Amino acid sequence: MSETEPKAKKKRKASVVVNESWCKGCRICVEFCPKQVFEMHGLKAVVRNESACILCYQCEMLCPDFAIAVNEIKDNDRAV
Ligand code: SF4
Ligand code: SF4
Repeated sequence: MSETEPKAKKKRKASVVVNESWCKGCRICVEFCPKQVFEMHGLKAVVRNESACILCYQCEMLCPDFAIAVNEIKDNDRAV
């Protein structure tokens, strides 16, 4: 067993993107996101609190217009 990996729990980082041109403003994501990541700007949902996302993917599954893309950002993905 290697002891080189730190055991500290890291918060998983999320990328949450709303494709505005597909969003029809139904508010489902605003209502169902457990972390209030979204808010409405007029008739469009916008991401206002991406860092609160817990990667539950509810918004992606529930959006009837497939306008939301949620992805986990891995450490390896970050530009150095
Ligand atoms: S669930 Fe989809 S269509 Fe509805 S407001 Fe959110 S992003 Fe827009
Ligand atoms: S994945 Fe879950 S926590 Fe993250 S924005 Fe969507 S509904 Fe909210």
